[in-house]
Amino acid sequence: MRSRSAFFVAFVFFCLAIPGVLADQNTVNWKGNFAPCNGHSELLKHERMNLGVRISTSNPQLGREFERAMTFWSHVLDMSWHDDQTSSCAIELVDGTPSIFHNATIARSQFTEWQNFEGWIAFDPRAPLTKSEMYLTSVHEIGHMLGLKHNSSPKSVMYYIDLEGSEVLDAKDINELAIHHKLRVRPIDAPIAVNKHSLSTVALRADTAIR
Ligand SMILES: [Zn+2]
Repeated sequence: MRSRSAFFVAFVFFCLAIPGVLADQNTVNWKGNFAPCNGHSELLKHERMNLGVRISTSNPQLGREFERAMTFWSHVLDMSWHDDQTSSCAIELVDGTPSIFHNATIARSQFTEWQNFEGWIAFDPRAPLTKSEMYLTSVHEIGHMLGLKHNSSPKSVMYYIDLEGSEVLDAKDINELAIHHKLRVRPIDAPIAVNKHSLSTVALRADTAIR
């Protein structure tokens, strides 16, 4: 178990690029030699999405936590997801190469509105992450692909650093999501906890049936 001080020494940066701050200077996604996901346009739909997810990481634990993160989002948004190991996928989880990561970044997503969008989310396979960090970082990176920018609140899962015990979707996140996608939850003031045990809470707030 990590101590708090050790945790802060080992700041975990979710991603290097800060949309909204760097968007004007950097509107081209990172590149890589990964398998294509030709169904990535599904992520742009405002109505119900059916997302094929291709797990291409060599880390099976990361794959499982990423899938749990997809399930979290399927309780917040009107969407479903399924495993799809073919080129018709919408999202692909890959082991990133060193050139993708800078300044202690451990994971990066591509952004739908930037050039060369391929639907890829890369984790640095050299980063030693706990299961919880894998899960929360997956929620964060998938959030970017769903249209969310960084949130200046340290309590939000969309804050750019992983701070221990501070993971929620707040009203800003929810309202921003509603611009891009149909929600299962109503725009609310109370934050939604983002952890493995919060799904029942999310379901209680849902105004449509969980599929
Ligand atoms: Zn980020």
